[in-house]
Amino acid sequence: MKLWPKDLFAPAVAVIVLALGVLVGAIFFVASSANSAARAREEAVVANGVNVRIALIAQTVWLHVAEENVGPRLGPRPDLPWVHAHLGAPLNLAHGFEAAFALGADNAPFYAMDHGRLAGSEAFLPFSPAAAPLIASVRQSEADGRRDPQEHTAFAAPIQASAAASVGGHVYVLTATLANGSEHAGRASIIVTAEEIDDAFLYGLDDGLLLDNLQLREGNAGELPGDARVHLTDAAGAPVATLTWVPQTPGEALLQNTLPPVLVLIAALAILGWAIYRRGRQTARALVAEKAHATHLAYHDALTGLPNRLLLADRLGRAVEDLRRRTTPFAVHCIDLDRFKDVNDTFGHQAGDEVIQLAALRITSACRQSDTIARLGGDEFAVVQIDADLDGAARLAERLVALLSEPMELSVGRVHIGASVGVSLLSEGAIDAQECLRQADLALYRVKEKGRGNFCFFEPEMDATIRFRKALEADLRVAIEKNQFYMAYQPQVDGRGKMIGVEALLRWRHPTRSALSPAVFIPVAEEAGLIDALGFFTLRRTFEDSRRWPGLRVAVNISATQLRAKDFAARLAALVEEADIDPACFELEITEGVLLGDDPRTHETLRRIREIGFRLALDDFGTGYSSLSYLHRYPIDKIKIDRSFVINLGLDKEADAIVAAIVKLARALNLTCIAEGVETEEQRLRLSLAGCSDMQGFLLGKPAGVEEIDDRLASAEISAKRTGAS
Ligand code: C2E
Ligand code: CA
Ligand code: CA
Repeated sequence: MKLWPKDLFAPAVAVIVLALGVLVGAIFFVASSANSAARAREEAVVANGVNVRIALIAQTVWLHVAEENVGPRLGPRPDLPWVHAHLGAPLNLAHGFEAAFALGADNAPFYAMDHGRLAGSEAFLPFSPAAAPLIASVRQSEADGRRDPQEHTAFAAPIQASAAASVGGHVYVLTATLANGSEHAGRASIIVTAEEIDDAFLYGLDDGLLLDNLQLREGNAGELPGDARVHLTDAAGAPVATLTWVPQTPGEALLQNTLPPVLVLIAALAILGWAIYRRGRQTARALVAEKAHATHLAYHDALTGLPNRLLLADRLGRAVEDLRRRTTPFAVHCIDLDRFKDVNDTFGHQAGDEVIQLAALRITSACRQSDTIARLGGDEFAVVQIDADLDGAARLAERLVALLSEPMELSVGRVHIGASVGVSLLSEGAIDAQECLRQADLALYRVKEKGRGNFCFFEPEMDATIRFRKALEADLRVAIEKNQFYMAYQPQVDGRGKMIGVEALLRWRHPTRSALSPAVFIPVAEEAGLIDALGFFTLRRTFEDSRRWPGLRVAVNISATQLRAKDFAARLAALVEEADIDPACFELEITEGVLLGDDPRTHETLRRIREIGFRLALDDFGTGYSSLSYLHRYPIDKIKIDRSFVINLGLDKEADAIVAAIVKLARALNLTCIAEGVETEEQRLRLSLAGCSDMQGFLLGKPAGVEEIDDRLASAEISAKRTGAS
């Protein structure tokens, strides 16, 4: 199962991480904004409180100056004790003012109160610089009021100016107040007061905010990070002192409340993401492994684990490429096990599988690491031998044949398998992978044709032969379907020239090709699995034709492949029933190859054939393996001396001797004997002299149609009657 495409995983994770980052960032931003807002509000409240406090101080001074009607007492001859008793002392005692001064029209001090006591004018000196701008401001307002007298009455707003000031290490609120009614020479006196900003000043400044660690620092204490601050400024607006405190941080509460659940959420998401990632990775790994397995299966044979045809094609392609670019020669070996089908049929597929596996091991043991060994299917293997010359290729092929010919120990017992190897050596030229394999296959075909258990190199002439055979095979299939076959019969005569029998020979009425000998197309039919159909056609047709010649012995050729079929004898018996013929009138011709190997099944089949009533003739005698022991062991009735001996009679002394020996042997074994391929009178004479009187050949009659045999039989009967009559 795939959760999501692999290439979407990273972007998905990135988006989740980004989203979580934005969320956390937003929380911190909101928290920090809440903190800033709270601090700004506190600062506004405190600044307002400071202003209110300064205004209250100014109002307190004004109340004393206005209510006590201080102005006249400050006139040209000021009443200093009264001023002290009604203004200076109460300001100190009742309101905590540290200092108060009265300045004349010339702005010079004429009264001073210092910490409640009457003091000399010099007490004003330290306050003078800070008070100067306030005094100037008050004087300006006074002058403005005189220019517009309607506005300036005793009940008009007080003319005052206040500011913070730092004097002698203390911070004060200085207030300058114009004392109405004290005018002389057009200018009134000015009362200057100083109230230190102390704990009492600060008390309640926060308007119930309960500020934490509220402190007054001299100067511009702006460097304390995290603290809230409000500056107290002088008349020019420059900071004189700073109130600082630790502001409230509602954002932190927000963080405390929201962060844990968010962090839990993030952790959960992280765990989920990790789980998904792991799952995805496992899935991906499983997919990769699955794919690798599938790829292995697709390119390897399940039984042996060897590369299959597909992988071989790939390796061959590379070998071809190397040949083209670096002229590295290579050889392709096509290996076919010789008696595999027999083992498979006799002992079953389990044994067959064991043979294939053992063969794979042996082939592998003969090859180098760089060679590719493949199973092409069934009992066929191929080897691509890299960097091989003619000698090297021959050595490997020879070794393969030898190794595979050694007996194999299977669970069912010991079996003998052989192998045929076709080799194609590629050392130059442009060629494709398919062609390499085809050439090796053609060479293999040739080995099998020549009798297996060997190897052979590809030669260009093989091509034409094989092409011809392939075409023939295709034609044969059509011919069987369209019934293009018929039988010819060749007479067999005795020593007196009497036709004693005929041999049925298959003929192909091919629509375009000229006449083809069964010697050519029968082996192709055997190879193509068509011999069964052809063989039974021959038998059926011959049985039918033979009804025309009652009492005449008819010989039928049976190929080795036909005979090897399991149910041959049974089907033959069924055919005898069906055609209603007398098997005693028939002779089945088999070749020595059939007897080769001393197979128990062949024994059994031949025994059954004899049981049904057929006679058996050994065809082409003397050409094959000619093991005389066969003649003892098999139920043979007749031997046919091969044409190759007959043809040499009179030409080669040995031929005469061999023929004589065969005739003697036949007699000794109580077998009848016939010579085939008799073409000349001399051959006939010599055969007669050797003791072989029955003959077959062009001299005595060519293979002919049924009518010709009819005619011949009829004329023989007439002459016999004549002879009998005369
Ligand atoms: P064979 O059984 O040895 O048949 C004899 C072959 O020799 C026949 O060739 C025949 O035409 C030829 N022949 C006969 N007398 C002479 C002669 O004096 N000189 C020469 N040069 N040749 C002669 P054919 O008909 O071409 O058959 C060839 C082979 O095909 C046969 O050899 C036989 O092995 C096989 N064959 C023929 N008919 C059948 C059949 O119906 N079934 C099977 N399984 N094989 C068949
Ligand atoms: Ca024959
Ligand atoms: Ca023959």
